[in-house]
Order: sequence, then structure tokens, then C-alpha cells
Amino acid sequence: MSAAILTIGTELTRGEIVDANAAWLAERLAELGHEVRQIVSVPDEVTSIQTNLQRLCGDSSLVFCSGGLGPTSDDITAAALAAMAGVPLETDSGTLACIERRLTEFGRSMTESQRKQALVPRGSFALVNPRGMAAGFELQWSGATVYSLPGVPDEFRSMFLESIVPRLPKAPDGAPLQLMLRCFGLGESQINDTLAGIEAEYDVELGYRVTGPEVLVKVLSRGTDSVAKADRAITVVRSRLAEIVYGEGFESLAATVGQLALQRGWTVGCAESCTGGLVSQLITAEPGASDWFAGAVVCYAERIKQQLLGVDPMVLSRAGAVSEPTARAMAEGGRQRLGVDLCLAITGVAGPSGGTPEKPVGTVHFAVASPQGTQHEVHRFHGSRERIQRWSAIAGLSLVRRTLAAAKRD
Ligand code: ATP
Ligand code: MG
Repeated sequence: MSAAILTIGTELTRGEIVDANAAWLAERLAELGHEVRQIVSVPDEVTSIQTNLQRLCGDSSLVFCSGGLGPTSDDITAAALAAMAGVPLETDSGTLACIERRLTEFGRSMTESQRKQALVPRGSFALVNPRGMAAGFELQWSGATVYSLPGVPDEFRSMFLESIVPRLPKAPDGAPLQLMLRCFGLGESQINDTLAGIEAEYDVELGYRVTGPEVLVKVLSRGTDSVAKADRAITVVRSRLAEIVYGEGFESLAATVGQLALQRGWTVGCAESCTGGLVSQLITAEPGASDWFAGAVVCYAERIKQQLLGVDPMVLSRAGAVSEPTARAMAEGGRQRLGVDLCLAITGVAGPSGGTPEKPVGTVHFAVASPQGTQHEVHRFHGSRERIQRWSAIAGLSLVRRTLAAAKRD
């Protein structure tokens, strides 16, 4: 059962924006066993939309459209699809009620163009938009199922996951299936060597993608029994990579940390020096972070390390700000002052200046204080200031994840 993606928008065909929706969706569909055979972008023009959609519906049984469902005059997707299917547009009462509720919350009344966002082709199934106003819809046409979603990436993604995935036909056995594990702690070549032999033994293909500090390991399985083969291979990949695997699919490291903290019933805080709040930013980007994340101290100056975290001035003068004793004192002081169960501390030399022969640029000390004591790690990262900060934030979160996972087993 093959799939196709039609992204609609003159901004795309003029190169003003990059087609992030198609890339994101193609990856999700591969994970679900639906092979995307074509990705096409067209401008906001009725005939372009209709002729391309007709062709894609002839080739594929599932066609996903993105964009052009908003309130403005250049948003013509619903009208173009309705005309192609030979049906009128009609108001979806559920969506209209949602738009009305949202506008009332903001003390506004509905305009004619906002009302347009509740229009769907007659006979289609309206899809809820939890993040925005425009309705999506599912339309049966010429033997294919066509899904139409808003172009705003946040709305596009949440509607696909929440409204379409539960309705999507199951991929037939034998369809190519791709599963993905997210790793941090080893480079791609070391991971590749650790996984040697799996492809031949389990009849799968392995792929790697490096996204900053993280490495994504993809397991692709084809042919008869593809689901069972992928499951068997992924179990072996997990056990060989052990601790460095932190998640599956598109789960973020901060989200994994949050789940573990909630399972353990621990609150988390941070004392961030060289990362300047980046760990806190990654954590608070996750919905629901307030259930487990208490807050952080961005403690750049030695004075702040002393005054807000209670780091002993003697420790700072003897060992220096970038050292194991200081990292430990920051974590322990932060745990107490922030009143949290677990506190992560990070102190390092982000560069480009400030390095010494003993503490070169990229030297970063980490400590995690928890009811199980304080653990320390030191890493040496390379590259620009931005890169060192990013790697430090991810390495810090990774230490928190491993601490929580070990505590859970006790
Ligand atoms: P709106 O209500 O905002 O008009 P819409 O469903 O009509 O939503 P579009 O007008 O096509 O969607 O796009 C809205 C915005 O979403 C674009 O300006 C762009 O920033 C982003 N966007 C649209 N399509 C894509 C895409 N394929 N990839 C990434 N971003 C996109
Ligand atoms: Mg629009």
C-alpha cells in the first residue's frame, strides 16, 4: 500500500520555505510501514492542486495534503478538492463550535474568513485540530483515501498523530517497515561496529543519521514477516547498545527524562554555568515539564555560585570554577537550595577563549546530586562555542537519564 504527499503553497515552490512537513511525514509513514513513493509540491493554484492530486490518487492508495486550509484568500485547498470530487463545501459544526469557543476565550467574535476554516467537502470526515482553528478532513476519492491537513507544522504534526494515525489502515504484512532508536554517547562509526553482523543475521538494513550530538539508528525490514523481523532485530540492537539508547521514534531526550522522573516521583533542578540555561530550555520545551521540573540557577559568576548555591569559596579558589569539586558542590548546593530530589550541575569552558593546558576549551564537568549520592563525569567536546554548549546540555540530560534509570531499578 503506497503513499504520496502533496504539499501545497506558493511559498514552497518559490523556495521561501523548506518543505519540513513532507520530510517529517515521510519518516513517520515509514515507521508505520507505509512506503512514500512520491512527494510533490505545488503552488496555491486550483488546477495545479487538482491535476497533481488526480495523478497521485491513481498511483497511491493514501495521499496526504498539507497547507492551504487557513482563512485567507490564498487558502484554496478545501475548495479545490471539493470541486475535484464534484461536491459542495459545507460547514463542519464541531469545528465551527471549536472556533467559536476559542474566539470567545480571547474576547473576539467570528469574522467571515474565520468561518471559512470550518468548511469541508460534503461527504468527507472532518479531523479535529487541537492546536489551531482550521479543520482537516479525510475524503474518499477515486479508490484513494485523501487526507488534508493545515500547513502550520505544529498543527500538521499533532493532527497527523492524534487524528489520522488511529484511523490509518494497518500496513499489510510484507510492507517495508522502519523503526528508529535514538542514541547518545557513542559516535556513528562506533555504533556501526557494535552492530556488526545484525543485518545478515536478522535480514534487515541498518541506517544511521547524525543530528548534532545524537545518533539515530534505523532498522528497515522488508518482505514477508517484516514486522516480526524488525521486532527481533530492534531487540538485539537495543541490548547491544544498552545504556546509550534513550528513546524511540521522535521521542526527545528531555521527554524521556521527564517520564523517568515522574515514574520515580522525583523533582529535578539544574545549576547551569557554561550552558547558560540551555538544559532548562530543552526541558521546558516539553509539555507537562512543570510536573517534574522545579527550576534552575544560571550561575555564571563565582559570586553567584557562592551566594545562590552555597559553593564554598575555598573549593572555588583551590580547584577552580571548572573542576570536579565545584561541579559536585554546585549539584549538592542546588539540590538543597532549589528543594529538589535531583540536581544537575554543569560547569565548563565553552570557548573560544579561556582554555588552559590543564583545562582546554571544551572541558566540561557534570555532577548529579540525588538521594543516592553525587555522581561526577568529565567530558571534552570540540568545535564552536555553540556546539560545545549543545553537546554539554545533551550530555547533562543524558547523565540525569542514566541516574534516574538506575534509581528506578533499585
Ligand atoms: P494558515 O491558517 O496559517 O493559513 P494553512 O493550512 O493555510 O494555515 P499555509 O497557509 O499553507 O497553511 O501555511 C501556513 C504556514 O505554515 C506557512 O507560512 C509556513 O510557515 C508553514 N508551512 C506551510 N507548509 C509547510 C511545509 N510544507 N513545510 C513547512 N512549513 C510549512
Ligand atoms: Mg494559509
